[in-house]
Amino acid sequence: MDPVSHGALAYLLYVGCAFISGQRLPLGWALVPLAIGSQLPDLIDKPLAYWGVLVYGRSLAHSVFTMTVICASVWRLTRPPRADRADRADRADRADRADRDNRTDQAAHAHTRVRRIVTAIRHPLPAALTIGYLAHLIGDSWALIARGDWLSARFLLYPVYRIPASPSDDIAPWIRLLELYREPAASMQLELVAGAAIVFFALRIRAYRRGRWPHQQAG
Ligand SMILES: [Zn+2]
Repeated sequence: MDPVSHGALAYLLYVGCAFISGQRLPLGWALVPLAIGSQLPDLIDKPLAYWGVLVYGRSLAHSVFTMTVICASVWRLTRPPRADRADRADRADRADRADRDNRTDQAAHAHTRVRRIVTAIRHPLPAALTIGYLAHLIGDSWALIARGDWLSARFLLYPVYRIPASPSDDIAPWIRLLELYREPAASMQLELVAGAAIVFFALRIRAYRRGRWPHQQAG
């Protein structure tokens, strides 16, 4: 699956998870860790395979074991202190009020803005990164699993199963990317990308009609 389709699948999965769990829908800064998570396995494995560190461009970071380690570490590192968790919602409201009060003070506003960006990314970071990462593994393997080709999907359990080298990894990943998007329409899963775009704009329009932009706070 190409990077754009990976991103689209991650977005749809995130919206679905937010809808089911009752969290606020993902917008703005929450999309940054989601986008990173949706590309992370390829960002790690493809260059390492090209440089000969890994035998295959779907191995180490495409393993569910690696995903578990990375995502659990991020959850652990970004976990707020207990007291912080208890009144996080309270503090978010206070920050909103403080932000409004400080709008006349340019310097204070700039400081508050930076703090809000950091907070906005930190809160959804573990959930967004995990969902993005999971979406990437689903995107790379669902078609193989659907047609019963379990052997080709064994990279999900790396290093339990040995994986043969692939000649395509001899080509630099950035060159492959350029080649891939020489014909974007043929490379992307258009129905997936179109679906994500429709959902994205529908959520923006709904928020606009309600007179507010939904904050990103999943996670
Ligand atoms: Zn991949």
